[in-house]
Amino acid sequence: MTEETLSFQAEVSRLLDIVTHSLYSEKEIFLRELISNASDACDRVRYAALTEPALTADDPELRIIIQVDKDAGTLSVIDNGVGMDRADLVENLGTIARSGTTEFLSRVTGDGRNDLSMIGQFGVGFYASFMVADHVDVFTRKAGDAQGWHWRSSGHGNFTVAEADDVPRGTRVTLTLKADDKEYLEESRISHIIKTYSDHIAFPIRFGTGDDAKSLNLASAVWTRPKSELDADAYKEFYHHVAHAFDEPWMTVHWRAEGMIEYTGLLFVPTSKPFDLFDPKRAHQVKLYVRRVFITQGAEGLIPPYLRFLRGVVDSEDLPLNVSREMLQNNPMLAKLRSGITKRVLSDLLKKAEDAEAREPYAAFWNNFGAVVKEGLYEDFENRDTLLKLVRFRSSRVDGLVSLAEYVERAKDGQDEIYFITGDDVTSLARSPQLEGFRAKDVEVLLLTDPVDEFWIPLVQTYAEKPFKSVTRGDISLDKIAKPGGTGDADGTEPDAAAPAAGVDNLVALLKVTLKDAVKDVRTSDRLTDSAVCLVAAEGDMDMHLERLLRQHQQFSGTEAKRILEINPRHALVRTLSGLAGESGASEVLDDAAWLLLDQARILEGEPLPDPVAFTRRLSGLVERGLTAGA
Ligand code: ADP
Repeated sequence: MTEETLSFQAEVSRLLDIVTHSLYSEKEIFLRELISNASDACDRVRYAALTEPALTADDPELRIIIQVDKDAGTLSVIDNGVGMDRADLVENLGTIARSGTTEFLSRVTGDGRNDLSMIGQFGVGFYASFMVADHVDVFTRKAGDAQGWHWRSSGHGNFTVAEADDVPRGTRVTLTLKADDKEYLEESRISHIIKTYSDHIAFPIRFGTGDDAKSLNLASAVWTRPKSELDADAYKEFYHHVAHAFDEPWMTVHWRAEGMIEYTGLLFVPTSKPFDLFDPKRAHQVKLYVRRVFITQGAEGLIPPYLRFLRGVVDSEDLPLNVSREMLQNNPMLAKLRSGITKRVLSDLLKKAEDAEAREPYAAFWNNFGAVVKEGLYEDFENRDTLLKLVRFRSSRVDGLVSLAEYVERAKDGQDEIYFITGDDVTSLARSPQLEGFRAKDVEVLLLTDPVDEFWIPLVQTYAEKPFKSVTRGDISLDKIAKPGGTGDADGTEPDAAAPAAGVDNLVALLKVTLKDAVKDVRTSDRLTDSAVCLVAAEGDMDMHLERLLRQHQQFSGTEAKRILEINPRHALVRTLSGLAGESGASEVLDDAAWLLLDQARILEGEPLPDPVAFTRRLSGLVERGLTAGA
């Protein structure tokens, strides 16, 4: 029987280095991690036994046993779950599988105190054992296999693996405790830890073996217990276990559905944003149980992708126990479950959204998950109305978030559209020249910065019968909207506004001729007050930000749509140029000015200049002429 020595993956060594040298005060969490693993192993063998009952026939009652040997100074956590074969052992206890742990490592700074507080936030799973153990022995045999294995390590770079005989099914993890950590040999200490962290575990956890073995937990699935018996801590501990998360649940939804379909849901919305939220697979992580038996995690079709941040369990009374993971997707019951779950979660979210006292917490939720929830606007027609009540936006008018209802309520007399602008970030959007006219009339514009905004708006089209309207596309007429202060009449000729430049028509005509194919059209603008020019997309064309977005992601093929150049007839520069155009017609100066105006508009829009050299030459020329004339 040979023993092999293998090295930990480099990341594991780094992790172990932090863990073993840590003075982390809540070391006791190692036990929570080991019990959590044991419970998962029991869940998995129970599922496997559904189709292959022989796997558990010799030892059918699944349980977890804690054993101490005071003389040897060892603490063991023993399960009769699914166990591991040699390959599993090397893979699972030699590398880092859990993405949260990888994330933890990417954040460790080397500053001891920071790193330590993060152990608590991320949880380091099995490796937490080395906070209290000199060395760890794992004896394990996979359900269905004859051969058992012994894994051993002191957490410094290497571990050994050897064949082992007479290993019962499942896994025994034995920690030889460090001299300072003998407290974990005391039954009272252990039982307290288990009450604190692991009471929700659905399998019995016993202290010792034999007739005097004591049960340390309730051993009933948390979600089957009445709400009145569960306090915030109980929910939190279960959330930590089920989600492998270490933050507080932001929202807990625990309900039992009866009637057409019967099931129990215990779902959580995390407080902090999981780092894989935008993974292209858009998979969720909710666990599906059938009558208390764990079936699978992340069953496709159980949770809509736009709620993939949910964590927790759904336990169905109706699905057949022998439903295979593969057949699940075709089961009509799954769609009914999804519909029920979605409605329930959305209605609880709506309560939070509409709670005037909870604006801040809701904003925190929205900042984390809003971009994901908005995916529902284009893929869940059934719940669109509710979703439209949940969405929040940044706006040109207030600092915080606004709802569509608030927007519509504040809309000006004569405003029958919901104005928005899309772009990469709020700060640069707020400075867009296209917003100037709106600001002058105190008309609110929604600032949309999530790529998904480009996709739901064309599908949703209206809210409260007001169409969504991009301020960077098509014609905008603000004539009907009165200026704040109320002196203006409704036809847009406010007495206090500077008169439009005389001869601006000449300038427009000249610009059209000069810029020819570089633009789709040139026209005067209602959108501008301070800037001289801006670009807009023609009504039927793709909006400019969307085109940039698609180009960035190599999703854009075909020719770029030409833009419309809008000029501000009240701007001093436009006035001067209009004068020149009226006096002398086309000239070299006006030709340069035309191209400079267009390039200016491109820069403001964040579009690249097609010919930066020509731009610089023209700009220098104009500055030089200006300086010479002034001298
Ligand atoms: P996590 O539990 O988050 O995946 P761990 O580091 O705690 O991370 O464990 C790594 C893997 O080792 C587990 O995913 C599981 O596959 C395996 N494992 C750990 N403990 C046991 C156990 N008691 N029985 C069977 N497999 C286990």
